[in-house]
Amino acid sequence: MLRDSPPNPWAQSRLMSDRPAARRSNFLTDIVDADLAAGRHTKVVTRFPPEPNGYLHIGHAKSIALNFGLAQQYGGVCHLRLDDTNPVTEDTDYVESIQHDVAWLGGNWDGEVRYASNYFGQMYALAERLVTDGKAYVDGQTVEEIRKNRGDFTTPGVASPYRDRPIEESLELFRRMKAGEFADGTCVLRARIDMGHANVLMRDPLIYRIRHAHHHRTGDEWCIYPMYDYAHPLEDAIEGITHSICTLEFETNRELYDWFLDHTGPWNPRPRQYEFARLALGYTVMSKRKLLQLVVDKRVSGWDDPRMPTIVGLRRRGYTPESLHLMHERTGTSKAGGWTDYSVLEGCLRDDLETKALRGMAVLNPVKLIMTNWDDVMGAGHLEPCSQPALPHPPEGVEPPPARHFTIGKEVWIEREDFEEVPPKGYKRLFPGNKVRLKGGYVIECTGCIKDIDGVITDVLATVVPDTKSGTPGSDAVKVKAAITWVAVANGVNAEVRMYDRLFLDPHPDAGGKDFIESLNPNSLKVVTAIVEPSLANALPDQKFQFERHGYFVADRVDHVQGSKPVFNLAVGLKDSWGK
Ligand code: ATP
Ligand code: MG
Repeated sequence: MLRDSPPNPWAQSRLMSDRPAARRSNFLTDIVDADLAAGRHTKVVTRFPPEPNGYLHIGHAKSIALNFGLAQQYGGVCHLRLDDTNPVTEDTDYVESIQHDVAWLGGNWDGEVRYASNYFGQMYALAERLVTDGKAYVDGQTVEEIRKNRGDFTTPGVASPYRDRPIEESLELFRRMKAGEFADGTCVLRARIDMGHANVLMRDPLIYRIRHAHHHRTGDEWCIYPMYDYAHPLEDAIEGITHSICTLEFETNRELYDWFLDHTGPWNPRPRQYEFARLALGYTVMSKRKLLQLVVDKRVSGWDDPRMPTIVGLRRRGYTPESLHLMHERTGTSKAGGWTDYSVLEGCLRDDLETKALRGMAVLNPVKLIMTNWDDVMGAGHLEPCSQPALPHPPEGVEPPPARHFTIGKEVWIEREDFEEVPPKGYKRLFPGNKVRLKGGYVIECTGCIKDIDGVITDVLATVVPDTKSGTPGSDAVKVKAAITWVAVANGVNAEVRMYDRLFLDPHPDAGGKDFIESLNPNSLKVVTAIVEPSLANALPDQKFQFERHGYFVADRVDHVQGSKPVFNLAVGLKDSWGK
């Protein structure tokens, strides 16, 4: 869908382009500065190259912020390239979702969305050139033999018996591989580098393998597919990428990256690979394969389950693009890895929503409070209008949104935990004889409670103190030590509220080969029926709120129906709960 309208208008006004002044400085900007100063490049061209074999996750968000951000900082461009060289695991659904996620994050890619498969023809031609130049050969060993003969860190490799076959013979065999004459696994094309090389990856790495598989874009046109280490540098070079940024695991591949470019060029510009430390987030798994397993095994409701670290999951959870960019800023770009605490991510959301999310009152665990003198002092059936600011501290220069309106009557819902028959030490909320303020309403004095035959409290009793309505002249004549949240029985609306907790109980669920499934938190989702004030029931899907004192919540993008069926997800609590 976005494929045909690539320069994404949404991105224009947002994020990266919002803050050209935010000059980042890290080891990559040092490299770019030096390249520009030395005249090696005049324009910075980066790329974000996801493989379309799953949905993007929070780690990709970092790579997106980095690649698009670097290009923007230097007035260059960033390409969105789908690295679709493996036909077996890839899917068009993923292709679509990736484009949406990148666009949502404000990634404004240059030109069309690009596909590695667009370059299959060029890659093949360059491979023929390597064969002709004596730099590649067709090997008839099995993949197991090749692996065994590669040696390891301490043992040099053993040359293939086919390594010195005549160029003409390799060329003919390679053409027959392409023509589909051989079954999968019969032979491969290998680079002819050095079987005794200190870097094992340089010991005649594979370039092409046979795979009779349907590709989501090229269909059945190809039955040989290039290996990542060969394809990636060529994709970069063909697109004129100047700075090819990847994560540290690819450090040892860099030598091979350079070898392939040196033997297929000259390329201008000549791309260079740079590595940074990937984002590893506590209590999270990030491998797409593992995320897929959670989805397939129905451990979560889908890729966009609000507990998932996917972009779609985070979005449904209430995360904003701005909060994810803030996360990138705070975690920085460096070569030093390590785990990032989940609380850092949550802090970013809290800080972003603080000045944006409208306020509202919701009672998550309701018990009814009855003001027994209401009819006498306020009038039978009287409902008193109240109002409160929707955003108490709007950012500077931002027009505050209209106030919220609701009413108060004889009966209101309060949180069960706000009443104690026998108050623990220091308890300041409702207990017989104590006064509190119903936030934005009146001061009340607690007189007792009613219980059912099992001893469960069904009603809390109180009297209203007249002339104490918030915002009226006499309102603070009566001093109280606490204000509690509430929703009037007369206009409260039932809402489904999904209280999420961490998905895993282990801070490093898949470290050291652990089975991450074993540390799934059985209580990561609790659904409650809450009672919310009318302004919340009128939320638009995806709108974020601060439920006063509880935390930030978002109207669910999928299940919430404005006005008639409110559904909210807990995005993040008001305080850090990870240290507990
Ligand atoms: P996975 O292991 O989840 O499948 P991947 O690295 O294979 O991840 P790609 O689709 O190849 O996924 O990644 C696209 C880009 O995103 C790459 O440039 C990769 O370096 C980057 N990336 C992936 N994971 C992270 C991460 N955790 N932190 C930073 N960048 C990442
Ligand atoms: Mg990958």
